[in-house]
Amino acid sequence: MSDAIVVGAGPAGSTAALTMARRGLDVLLLDAQPFPRRKICGGAVAARAFSLLDEEFYAAFSKNAVRGVIFAYGGDLPVRYDREEPYAYIVDRAEFDQYLVERAQRVGVRFRDAAEVTAVRTEAHLVRVIAGGEEFRARFVVAADGVRGRTARLAGIGGPPDLALTLEADVPDDLGVRARLDGALLIDYGAVRSGYGWIFPRGDGLSVGIGTFGALSGSALRSAFRRFVAAYLPGLDPASVAVRGYLVPRGGRRRGPLCRGRVLVAGDAAGLADPFFGEGIHWAMLSGKLAGEAVAAALGGEPLERYAERVDHEIGRELRIARYTSLLFYRMPGFFHRHLVSKKEIIGQFLDMVAGHQGYRAMVLWLMANLVRQVLARPAPAGAEGGVFKS
Ligand SMILES: Cc1cc2nc3c(=O)[nH]c(=O)nc-3n(C[C@H](O)[C@H](O)[C@H](O)COP(=O)(O)OP(=O)(O)OC[C@H]3O[C@@H](n4cnc5c(N)ncnc54)[C@H](O)[C@@H]3O)c2cc1C
Repeated sequence: MSDAIVVGAGPAGSTAALTMARRGLDVLLLDAQPFPRRKICGGAVAARAFSLLDEEFYAAFSKNAVRGVIFAYGGDLPVRYDREEPYAYIVDRAEFDQYLVERAQRVGVRFRDAAEVTAVRTEAHLVRVIAGGEEFRARFVVAADGVRGRTARLAGIGGPPDLALTLEADVPDDLGVRARLDGALLIDYGAVRSGYGWIFPRGDGLSVGIGTFGALSGSALRSAFRRFVAAYLPGLDPASVAVRGYLVPRGGRRRGPLCRGRVLVAGDAAGLADPFFGEGIHWAMLSGKLAGEAVAAALGGEPLERYAERVDHEIGRELRIARYTSLLFYRMPGFFHRHLVSKKEIIGQFLDMVAGHQGYRAMVLWLMANLVRQVLARPAPAGAEGGVFKS
């Protein structure tokens, strides 16, 4: 019998497994898919995630550092900001997730891919997990099987998720957009209602996507995606782009307990993604680390419920503030773009947060003070006319 079984080898699961194995626990990590596997994702890892790991990890992924950002509204009103220190790193998710699994294996984690978990039964002193037709037993289970994961549900944890619908495509850079981005990530809040469109330089090409927290149908989102592509990549036939849809949980809402009996839930499976930008890798890794620490402590006699308290303290409070901010922002993105996002010192505050120098709470307090000041001062709309890339 293992000390712990981790279901799902994304950033949450691998970080949980690594954390436990480093504390000497016997850990089995299971994933439904054969690895390395693709994950639909922009692949922008917030720099604050790197503080959770070590120098070796940083060295493996620090080459694609991002220092610049362009915020735009409806294909116009661009604001560019560059900072010296990177605030994010672009990764290929298949490579990144495979690396995390290998790091966990190096400290003794046993990994089984192509092993889908189909049943979880908690008993007094152990949990039985059925995966790939075999039974495995452990003292504890970490459910890190992503936004559509069912392990937590099988264990009776969690409520209905609040989801954002997204579309994403790998687009070759035939139009020289990377050169015009000049290392920056582009985010356009006018691309879709209650959400944004993005273009990230990734590998040799681009990650082009759109996501909404609003109640939009799949076909309305596809139309918005085509308009977004037509605005930023003229010359590319939107119908020729192979687009894939997936979900992101909108965090910051209490969904019920995060642990029950001998099972804990982490990452997207627990609904722990940023409700403003859908950024989930950092939160998945942080909750995975907390889950791993909680299991190690539980084996030493501490109540497992401490996990829920720590997640609430270190993640829940931040995501709740992000949620209120996003509910307000996405009601009037044009207004906020003109009066807040267009101010470089405000973007600087935001990127400081993504880099890990401050939390949402500090940033929002700073923003509120500035919003009042900006509105009273009635500033002129910023941005160059006639297209995001023209300066
Ligand atoms: C289009 C899009 C763009 C995004 N862009 C970004 C971005 O740029 N930056 C960012 O930070 N976040 C981004 N996100 C969010 C990010 O991808 C997730 O928050 C992150 O992957 C969550 O990690 P996780 O480990 O919780 O789950 P996942 O990475 O989803 O991993 C879950 C794993 O569980 C496995 N699994 C599922 N069911 C079972 C089962 N029954 N048995 C065994 N294994 C199972 C899956 O195969 C998978 O490998 C994006 C999401 C989308 C959809």
